[in-house]
Amino acid sequence: MDDRYDLVTIGAGSGGVAASRRAAAHGAKVAIVEAGRVGGTCVLRGCVPKKLLMYAAQFGDAFAEARGYGWVLPEPPRFAMDRWQQAKSAETARLEGIYRRLLEASCVTLVEGRARLDGPGRVVVATGDGTRTLLARHVLVATGGAPVRDSLPGIGQAATSDDLLDLDHVPARVAIVGSGYIAVEFASMLARLGASVAMYYRAEQPLRGFDAMLRGAAAAALQAAGVELHAGVLPRRIARVAGGFVLELGDERLREFDWVLNATGRRPNTAGLGLETVGITPGARSEIPVDATLRAADGVWAIGDVTDRVNLTPVAIAEGRALADTLFGGAPRAVDLSRVASAVFMLPPLASVGSSEDDAVAAGHALKVFETDFRPMKAAFWGGEERTRMKLLVDAASDRVLAVHMAGSDAPEIVQSLAVALTAGATKADFDRTVAMHPTAAEEFVLMREPVRRLPAR
Ligand code: NDP
Repeated sequence: MDDRYDLVTIGAGSGGVAASRRAAAHGAKVAIVEAGRVGGTCVLRGCVPKKLLMYAAQFGDAFAEARGYGWVLPEPPRFAMDRWQQAKSAETARLEGIYRRLLEASCVTLVEGRARLDGPGRVVVATGDGTRTLLARHVLVATGGAPVRDSLPGIGQAATSDDLLDLDHVPARVAIVGSGYIAVEFASMLARLGASVAMYYRAEQPLRGFDAMLRGAAAAALQAAGVELHAGVLPRRIARVAGGFVLELGDERLREFDWVLNATGRRPNTAGLGLETVGITPGARSEIPVDATLRAADGVWAIGDVTDRVNLTPVAIAEGRALADTLFGGAPRAVDLSRVASAVFMLPPLASVGSSEDDAVAAGHALKVFETDFRPMKAAFWGGEERTRMKLLVDAASDRVLAVHMAGSDAPEIVQSLAVALTAGATKADFDRTVAMHPTAAEEFVLMREPVRRLPAR
């Protein structure tokens, strides 16, 4: 077999598959190497199964709401995680099948085994029955990341989000360490699925980097769901004991849990890749440094979480396609990472596009800040306490809307649509002359008339 390719991609996750298929569509001869299942973190161990668990957790709220809307439910409903687990495994297997068929239909050769670089233009793959050397004009590293396991003494023994999504029962007493995306999303879900949850984290508010309004909304929503928040408290050590874990919390305080989730971040997968053979030195977080064109070394490129820039699936996909267009499509282009929308799939969810208020001020903008905070119609009817919060940040000099933040039902769907307006450069005047759609929550975004505060440029 001729093992000479225009592109060899290492890692068949969302980014690697997107790049490979686009390159093949441009006529390149492409191989993609994968050591595990095809589909990557998002499809197999992340976004997709996480959102399926969020839908399961949402029913916990829906039963209470249904009673408020006149439904008589005969017995207290109970969540059987083993049934969810079976359905989830079937769904991820179905999606993996789709990924494999897409590669085949795109004429991308799938090589199953562990790859390492072996000097410029050479990728050696350890397969089940030996090694295979692939020769490549270009190599793309798209190996993603994995949970950090050394952030605190003993935390390596705790479970990660991968393990959580493979559980077949909900643990009774859960400790979560960290307060980023993963901590907040799973605390919110587990509390609704029957666990008693305590979060330990070093910041004052969860979700560092998000707008203060969203951080406050996240803390309030977690507390309303019964999650214990221990801001500014980290275990000194986590120890395994019979049947569970003990958290050493200082002052000789010990607390036992059945299960502990390590949600202290993820780190790029670069170990054992042979990067040194092509002159690449990983950065302090093990990431592959790339320039604006995603170039890591001569003929070596990297996209997605392995570069540790904006660690979101759609970013990896967009980078992969842009790179393929640049290398093989005769259309050099880069991805603008300055305004990437993102969501936190807690209940109710949060979503943002554009910078936080603090960051916009620090960047030198004079701001007009528009905010609203209300009980949505659906909750008000049955006496639910859920609130919806919205914020627009407007540049006072140009009238451009710099950012949209929302906490509340459907926030990710609404903010994704508004992201188009921001990308197109919409001004507050454009929002104002848009006629509302009633009754919706989203209409509030075009009905905010007076700023709650004006902040001068620093
Ligand atoms: P995050 O980077 O979001 O959060 C990491 C958390 O761990 C923070 O609370 C951080 O604290 C804490 N932490 C880090 N190091 C230490 C330490 N040494 N001791 C104590 N605490 C520590 O990581 P996640 O694991 O939540 O998620 C990983 C990535 O996955 C995210 O960056 C995101 O890109 C992606 N993701 C995206 C989702 C989405 O789009 N909805 C959902 C889930 C994951 P501090 O805040 O104080 O720094």
